[in-house]
Amino acid sequence: MIEGRNIESSVSLKYGQVGGGIGSFIGPVHRAALAMNGQADLVCGTFSSDVNRNIETGKMLGVSSDRIYANFEDMAKRESERKDPIDFVDIAVPNHLHFSVAKSFIEKGINVVCEKPLCLTEEETSELVKLVKINNVQFMVTYSYDGYPMVIEAKHLVSSGQIGDIRLVVAEYPQDWLTSLLELTGQKQAAWRTNPKYAGLGGSIGDIGSHIENVVHFISGLEIDQLLAKLEIFVEGRSLDDNAFVLLKYKNGASGNYWSSQIAVGHENGLKIRIFGTEGKIEWEQENPNYLKFQKINSPLEVFTRGSSYLSEDSKNYVRLPAGHPEGYFEAFANLYRNFCDTLIAKKNGRDLNQNDVFFPTVLDGARGVQFIHDCVRSSELGSKWVDGTFKIKEG
Ligand code: NAD
Repeated sequence: MIEGRNIESSVSLKYGQVGGGIGSFIGPVHRAALAMNGQADLVCGTFSSDVNRNIETGKMLGVSSDRIYANFEDMAKRESERKDPIDFVDIAVPNHLHFSVAKSFIEKGINVVCEKPLCLTEEETSELVKLVKINNVQFMVTYSYDGYPMVIEAKHLVSSGQIGDIRLVVAEYPQDWLTSLLELTGQKQAAWRTNPKYAGLGGSIGDIGSHIENVVHFISGLEIDQLLAKLEIFVEGRSLDDNAFVLLKYKNGASGNYWSSQIAVGHENGLKIRIFGTEGKIEWEQENPNYLKFQKINSPLEVFTRGSSYLSEDSKNYVRLPAGHPEGYFEAFANLYRNFCDTLIAKKNGRDLNQNDVFFPTVLDGARGVQFIHDCVRSSELGSKWVDGTFKIKEG
């Protein structure tokens, strides 16, 4: 992923959604984010595993009845046969379906946006990476935190050398919503997230630890060399970790410490990143996302505000409201989508695309996340031993 730009164009895109039925969490967030940008219209979908809810959701969203599909296989086939097929599909279903849904659309040459974690296994992940390359489609993984302007500013501070060489990363994502067996009460988001059949091998480490891995990599560019993980299950009757501690060594010699938890009483979505270099530090918290702390060694703490004139063009490019009017989760998704849609529009306009046209988390970022989860599981199962954490899944 490299520095972004804004392509001017009046081309409007069409998209379809898999998942996002009434009562679901993230699908409606994706739709709201796309609507903020006005670059793509929802024209079709298969929105729910429940037949009636699928139709009800499609009708509510104004989708014509012949484009509310019974399943994703039918949607991929029939959309690809149309004269005016969708430009991309948006996959917002539980983890176990990401691979098969993405594969169906990629093989029809349709661009994909997919939720994290990308796949359940490393084998599926490698196959998806290959399919993206072979079919020459654009693929975005919605690692939402990469879309926050102050995260982009943090990336700028690191890449412009303002904190010097990185020595330490301390990052955490504590939540408390799974402190008891919520999954047995009929709460469906908890039910699938705690079941390995639907969530994969990672509990907290997959659901939110994967966000830590991604956002640290996005800001710092650090590559993991080795890691040591301790995944724990505190709530009796659960089969996936609800708390994870991870120690890391990066290729540049820096050390890291990640903590993901879903049983940390008092925490909602407490993603917090601290990066310490030889000359300074940065600190960002997603529950207070419009501010970024920056401190040079032997200097007072500075608190940067999103949208301020003194910030870099990198982050100013993503500001939608003046400083002091809070932006947040929806805008971060909208920023990712703007970059993705800009790229698709450029493609539609016949421009040759290269790496410089891609400023969103790609299938490789998704693959790195899957490998991180599996390396953590491997280390923990070995009794918390150091394991090789080198990113091995390659493009092509
Ligand atoms: P959810 O349970 O709230 O919603 C899932 C939706 O998918 C439901 O509408 C369900 O009916 C539908 N669905 C299930 N099987 C289907 C099928 N075969 N065809 C069509 N629709 C089907 O789940 P959620 O919390 O929205 O999570 C969905 C995905 O988004 C997960 O992979 C999760 O990890 C990810 N997520 C990412 C973020 C983020 O910050 N990027 C935040 C939340 C969730």
